[in-house]
Amino acid sequence: MKFNVKKSISVVWLAFVFLQGCAVNPVSGEREFVLVSEEQEIAMGAQGAESVNQSVGLVEDERLQGYVQKLGMNLAVDSERPDLPWSFGVIDDPTPNAFAFPGGYIFITRGLMGLMGNEAELVSVLGHEIGHVTARHSVAMMTRSQVAQIGLGVGSILSPELAEFSEAAAGGLSLLFLSYGRDAERQADDLGFRYALDHGYDVREMVNVFASLQHAGQLAGGSPLPSWLSSHPDPAERIERIETRLSRLDRSLGGTRIGRNDYLARIDGTVFGVNPRQGYFEENRFNHPDLAFRLTFPKGWQMQNLAQVVLAGSPEKDAVVQLTLTAGTVSEAAGQFFQQEGLTSSDVGRQQINGLDAIRGRFQAQTSNRQLGGHAAFIAHGEHVYRLLAFTPTDQLSRHDSAFRKTTGSFARLTERKALDRQPDRIAIVRAPRTMTLTSFNAQYPSVIDIERLALINQLSGPEVTIPAGTRVKRVVREP
Ligand SMILES: [Zn+2]
Repeated sequence: MKFNVKKSISVVWLAFVFLQGCAVNPVSGEREFVLVSEEQEIAMGAQGAESVNQSVGLVEDERLQGYVQKLGMNLAVDSERPDLPWSFGVIDDPTPNAFAFPGGYIFITRGLMGLMGNEAELVSVLGHEIGHVTARHSVAMMTRSQVAQIGLGVGSILSPELAEFSEAAAGGLSLLFLSYGRDAERQADDLGFRYALDHGYDVREMVNVFASLQHAGQLAGGSPLPSWLSSHPDPAERIERIETRLSRLDRSLGGTRIGRNDYLARIDGTVFGVNPRQGYFEENRFNHPDLAFRLTFPKGWQMQNLAQVVLAGSPEKDAVVQLTLTAGTVSEAAGQFFQQEGLTSSDVGRQQINGLDAIRGRFQAQTSNRQLGGHAAFIAHGEHVYRLLAFTPTDQLSRHDSAFRKTTGSFARLTERKALDRQPDRIAIVRAPRTMTLTSFNAQYPSVIDIERLALINQLSGPEVTIPAGTRVKRVVREP
């Protein structure tokens, strides 16, 4: 729950994909069967972009946004589709990712910005995403099922089933990531390569982006892979293809732009990793400093803080607790929920939960293939009403009942100063005072992340790599 306004991605998208037509592909020049007109394409993209702005939100840093917008526009206005309403934004998500909506709405995460080391890399990524738009991949792949999937995890309670929980838990933005085919990825790589090269960038730097993503994937180990890795072809293969393309180039790359110092100056001070202001876990407790509440989940459950929902799942993956914001007053929200068709409620009553006005009750509901049962609580706190649902297949309810009761009863004001004041970690750029290894740099300028991750974000293969004097190095610091 990272953003206050709740808006799920509209199913209006579905309506578009049934409209059919035929158009000339702007990149290949060939006539092809397409599902939507350019006007509809722009409308779809605008809607997708709006939902990203609402749910994830842009990083609040005008200088950084202006920089990315300017670089992206330079490429876009010289592309095959200069007249689209192109826009480029950095979104507030720590997962390394970039994606394009039809019509030219392109997003890159602050997680990916933090991994990259120069402007040429950034331009390569923007070029790749522009390529998806100019080649109309994002239109072509919008089949009904993929569009439907976008709504996963952000819809209303009774549609998400337990199976969907595991998908929703796989990673916030991957829900929004539209995956293209392998051929489309290759074509976008080729187009991005050409756009960047035509604008005087050193396209060799593209290799670093994939190497960094690969390295990040290795470090992530058991945790979910950055979605750029899971939804794009193997980075090793792409590095190879870029190298082949480079070897075939008939021009020299001498004098082409890398733009390391400019790039690092723009990301200096940006938030690194999960932003605790938007909620963080402390063992099995969830604290949300900006909204000033806390909630305790059952011990040993798997927890996720996504854009519009905080989720926890039992180790056996048969029970879910989800916390969302809801519209209206406590009575209105509870009334609407408990009076839903197909839902039976019991023990519904007004009460205080840790001094907060609330309505709590039990429910059973029939979903498409399962009978679910659980607890629901609607709690007023600050300017919001929170909806807390805990549910499981009815035959498992007795096993989870007391955990559900305890969890829904644990919602409370966050009052500890230390938690309320918790600040995010930030990237800080420092010049190496002399030639030194990353290990000795880290001894002199300590970071709050471990040295392996520090090597990763500096695109160094390990802690013992030597850094020449005067090199700008990223470190990660926490405000006191
Ligand atoms: Zn791609």
